Amino acid sequence: MRIAYISSEAAPFSKTGGLGDVAGALPSALAVLGHEVSVFTPYYRATRKIDPKAEPVASGAVPVGTEMVPWIAHRASLPMGNAKYYLIANERYFDREGIYGNAQGDYQDSCSRFIFFCRAALAAAQELKQPIDVYHANDWQSALVPVYLRLSFAAHPFFQDAASLMTVHNLSYQGLFWHWDWPLLNLPWKHFNWRELEFHGKMNLLKGSLIYSDVLTTVSPTYAREIQTAELGFGLEGVLGDRKEDLFGVVNGIDPLAWNPEKDPLLPASYSAASPAGKAQCHAALLKRFELTDDGKVPVLGMISRLIEQKGFDLVADAFEDLARRDVKIVVLGTGLEKYHKLLQQMRARFPQKVAVAFAFDNALAHLIEAGSDLFLMPSRFEPCGLSQLYALRYGAVPVVHSVGGLADTVVDATPQALKDGTATGFAFNQYNPRAMMDCIDRALKLYAGDPKAWRELQLRGMRQDWSWAKSAQAYVALYERAKAKAAARANPKP
Ligand code: ADP
Repeated sequence: MRIAYISSEAAPFSKTGGLGDVAGALPSALAVLGHEVSVFTPYYRATRKIDPKAEPVASGAVPVGTEMVPWIAHRASLPMGNAKYYLIANERYFDREGIYGNAQGDYQDSCSRFIFFCRAALAAAQELKQPIDVYHANDWQSALVPVYLRLSFAAHPFFQDAASLMTVHNLSYQGLFWHWDWPLLNLPWKHFNWRELEFHGKMNLLKGSLIYSDVLTTVSPTYAREIQTAELGFGLEGVLGDRKEDLFGVVNGIDPLAWNPEKDPLLPASYSAASPAGKAQCHAALLKRFELTDDGKVPVLGMISRLIEQKGFDLVADAFEDLARRDVKIVVLGTGLEKYHKLLQQMRARFPQKVAVAFAFDNALAHLIEAGSDLFLMPSRFEPCGLSQLYALRYGAVPVVHSVGGLADTVVDATPQALKDGTATGFAFNQYNPRAMMDCIDRALKLYAGDPKAWRELQLRGMRQDWSWAKSAQAYVALYERAKAKAAARANPKP
């Protein structure tokens, strides 16, 4: 099958979170299965530093409102398995400091930037003369791809047979813009209605893709159910419920080349479930890096996260005094909301021997924290999939999670029964409140201090689990087939 994978970020070229990891790994896992995969992603200023040798291979111009905006597709030079990566350049839109915004917030022209990106990706696929069976779009930034395929190119010789699949990595970001931006789309106004792209008086790009994609996926089966409820549907639960026959949850995988403690160049020592000794060196290096004293048996609890409400920092804020009184050291890496920066700064000042924080986006440090921690805290209010807990499992940092979305699908709580059965991999709490989180952390600390053998087993079981992409890539292939069948049925309707 010929697949075009369109994403506004793809590691190592660009990354702000899980989408970047997925777009950097899933395409090559699909290529391993024998499919032809072309990835289209922006050539940001930072990407130019990472891959300065990318060669221009196609160019053109696409309409954004009344303007024709030039694009150049560069073939990435970094090795990305057998998947081809095309970096879409335009100086005005992508040659700037940030990916989505800067310290002042999101860029004001986000709407034009990603209208441009979607149109340019489609134009590049055509210009490169690569017939495509399925276009796979991701999140609101590429959500217009399925929309244009259906509303603008349904009779176009190059695009008419193509199917589309849309993956929602996080429903809380929808690409909402005021209706004055509508003319930028070059779509007839008749599509600005509540059954299509209109949403409470604004235009909603993600909503358009939920209506016009052949198949919809999200990144875990539990999240696929949750987003059909008013609690986690962010107003789109009705649209998603209408499409429940076409909506599937596929859990993300781990890129084994990027996240493998046995061969991780970012760590001071390597280790594995079969030979775990090196983890102690990583633990020592982590404490040293954060200038925390090594008190022998005191466990380290790590967090790597965007510092936003979704990730449970309101619980952390409420419980912090309590938490800092426990026999544990807390290491946090993240950037985000000012109020959480302040909170963490205060906590560090109050408990300098116990709390350490780095306010940065630092991939090498993220690896060291996963490797050096004993526990990994992820109390997200909602979590579509979550990758950090998968890395934690692999790196032997036992996850402590709020049981929602992908966290519920990937971490098995260490109940007495699950410990006995040999199925437990971490600790999970159900009620989203600080008390429940602390009870859960206390259960973990009790097992850590009181039963080192059971702890060891729990830790090694997580490390041995296989979260590689192979299985999920197969699930996507089956869904691409489904999307193709739907597109074919649309082209040749039964009499
Ligand atoms: P989300 O996509 O919602 O941010 P995920 O758990 O799916 O959450 O993915 C987060 C990814 O971003 C992980 O690879 C994690 O290591 C990385 N990450 C998050 N914050 C930082 C940071 N401050 N520095 C380095 N990596 C980070």
